[in-house]
Amino acid sequence: MCRCLIKDFETRPAVIHLLEHPFIKQAHGRDMLLRKQLATLIRQQQELGCRTKTKHERINTSKTLKVESCPNDDLVNLEVLDEEIIITHLQRRYEDLQIYTYVGDILIALNPFQNLNIYSPQFSKLYHGVKRMSNPPHIFATADAAYQGMVTFCKDQCIIISGESGAGKTESAHLIVQHLTFLGKANNRTLREKILQVNPLVEAFGNACSAINHNSSRFGKYLEMKFTPTGAVMGAKISEYLLEKSRVIKQAVGEKNFHIFYYIYAGLYHQKQLKEYRLPEKAPPRYIDSEHGKVMQDIVSSKQYKEQFDAIQDCFRIIGFTKEEVNSVYKILSAILNTGNIEFAAITSQHQTDKSEVPNAEALENAAALLSIGPEELQEALTSHCVVTRGETIIRTNTVDKATDVRDAMSKALYGRLFSWIVNRINALLQPDKNICNAESGMNVGILDIFGFENFQKNSFEQLCINIANEQIQFYFNQHIFALEQLEYQSEGVDASLVEYEDNRPILDMFLQKPMGLLSLLDEESRFPQATDQTLVDKFEDNLRFKYFWRPKRVELCFGIQHYAGQVLYNVDGFLEKNRDTLPADIVVVLRTSENKLLQQLFSSPLTKTGNLATSRARVTAASRSLPPQISTGRNKVDTMEMMRHPEETTNMRRQTVASYFRYSLMDLLSKMVVGQPHFVRCIKPNDGRQALCFCKDRVMVQLRYTGILETVSIRRQGYSHRILFEEFVNRYYYLAFRAHQMPDTSRENAITILERAKLDNWVLGRTKVFLKYYHVEQLNLLLREV
Ligand code: ATP
Ligand code: MG
Repeated sequence: MCRCLIKDFETRPAVIHLLEHPFIKQAHGRDMLLRKQLATLIRQQQELGCRTKTKHERINTSKTLKVESCPNDDLVNLEVLDEEIIITHLQRRYEDLQIYTYVGDILIALNPFQNLNIYSPQFSKLYHGVKRMSNPPHIFATADAAYQGMVTFCKDQCIIISGESGAGKTESAHLIVQHLTFLGKANNRTLREKILQVNPLVEAFGNACSAINHNSSRFGKYLEMKFTPTGAVMGAKISEYLLEKSRVIKQAVGEKNFHIFYYIYAGLYHQKQLKEYRLPEKAPPRYIDSEHGKVMQDIVSSKQYKEQFDAIQDCFRIIGFTKEEVNSVYKILSAILNTGNIEFAAITSQHQTDKSEVPNAEALENAAALLSIGPEELQEALTSHCVVTRGETIIRTNTVDKATDVRDAMSKALYGRLFSWIVNRINALLQPDKNICNAESGMNVGILDIFGFENFQKNSFEQLCINIANEQIQFYFNQHIFALEQLEYQSEGVDASLVEYEDNRPILDMFLQKPMGLLSLLDEESRFPQATDQTLVDKFEDNLRFKYFWRPKRVELCFGIQHYAGQVLYNVDGFLEKNRDTLPADIVVVLRTSENKLLQQLFSSPLTKTGNLATSRARVTAASRSLPPQISTGRNKVDTMEMMRHPEETTNMRRQTVASYFRYSLMDLLSKMVVGQPHFVRCIKPNDGRQALCFCKDRVMVQLRYTGILETVSIRRQGYSHRILFEEFVNRYYYLAFRAHQMPDTSRENAITILERAKLDNWVLGRTKVFLKYYHVEQLNLLLREV
């Protein structure tokens, strides 16, 4: 460790900082070689001459991280609390590259927009099982707290990472997985390596370059790491939510398709395998060429995409996908790219003006060959459709526009189902080994990383869903930090001055309530064949009598929402179609004739998003019963059966829409989160230009305000974040005051004895519970380990 630090410092101007480093201090006295090395370094430094360091150099030298904590690490310790003081404090820390700050047990993470040397295995060791305040705040400390909580209390944990797009949620999630894998001492290296490949693989398929973030998550991800009761990692499971499939067929200006399409095209280009996958060699397919030729230049001139392709191949191999499976995945991706190149032209004859044909047979043949289906059958399914009227089947032709829609619907469905299949396959491959531990006795740490709040110049249906999901996460945060805590003070007769906070429940109700919430109105309108986007926005205006909704004058197809994180103007153009997300039965029928095994699987039956339909359904129903009243969906009750069908599948029953599926997904996600002890990480984006060392006070202030950080500081300072029943408390900690064989009564008096023996102060007793500050539990657990 010391030698690493020295090496690091050799390139830096100030050796004096090195001498202050605790690791060096410790080793200095005993290590002769080290002393010699340091003496040489200091001499060299003196020869260079003492010059005043620039601000940049000062910051660079501190890059190795101060490894001692100080009271300023926690906003709760600030003497005076106001917005200005908090923001200046955060700014000072950020400029000193202290990107992490605590608010009690909550972690604030400011995006550094540069690589910091603070995530090496040495740092994992530094943050392993120690008191939180012995080191500066760090994402590893949060992961560690979750892990220790799980092992000590045998309770599932859940780390909720929130923040707007580009704030650093996905990076934080990676770091948490890295630290948990370190802590979980995977008994075989292979399992550890497999788990570390999960995020890169799903993100290649689910992330894309957006106007805000070059690696923007376009789906929600809940990764559960599974551990044995003794804390050894034994597997993992991902749940994915609401992939933004529309990106496959179209991207907004300055945005790109999902990463995997570029990786695969570049990889096959450089390996001279484009022909094998029937991909055009001269120009990239239309779906990935929104910038007209720019992608091809990038692919030819840079090896970056190719390297990422190689990395993805490694991910597939390490996780355990077979060669055939990977080949089938590439074939389907290539088929989607070819499908996008299929064009349609109108056939106008005397009798028929609404018929279309495919003028470029090559793209159609390529797509059909890759999907192992007949080209004629595919053409027929794209250019015509069957209608059943009074028991009779009639074939109707598709106009050019209709055929184009069907083509794009097929591409979206192929990609969406392929993504779900990859996730399900990863879950099967990372299932805990039953010989090590059965799933029931194991425990989980879940990590939630969803798409962040978005507000573009033009916002559509996708942004609406993303922002509603973020409203829900903010609501969950509020419930835990404010509402539940205050309710408990009242019912237990504990005096704690209540903190006012911005409750976003009315906004959520406006979206989710039935039958008059925005999503229900959207579904209702989607069922009328004659409805248009104009009638939809009129319906919203007529029915949504909330102060959070408004209709701007002079902008016909728009409506505005006052979200917890700011005002967003939505354009309803295409809302109905996106919500219906129909995949004509004719396409399903032809895809089912495929000889490709994977494709057969994708279309054989409606895939469930979360694996087994029955268990999922039972879990959601059970969870909706066990949710605390504030979180319960109550009047927003979800018909779970309705939600379990695949969204784009056309059935004889009432059609599943994206909105109804989305509502189900939110419930499913909540049901998973509420069973665990939550830990919160609030990511903050310090500027909009992705610049290192640039702290834009106004931007940070807005985020602090809407996430309720100021109120959180107050409640963490005054409040008691842990409330434990006397019985549970005595059972858990009696070793601290009694002998093992004594088995004391689980009474109030014995709880007091334990608290006094542990020499804690500032605790309070309620009617049935011990009320503890966030730091008490850590102190108790440390004492417990020493016994
Ligand atoms: P979205 O909601 O769009 O998915 P996000 O919150 O997940 O956004 P990230 O993709 O995690 O944002 O972060 C955006 C970028 O910020 C990263 O690609 C990386 O360049 C930088 N970044 C974030 N966190 C860190 C960190 N801890 N160290 C270095 N760079 C970081
Ligand atoms: Mg992300």
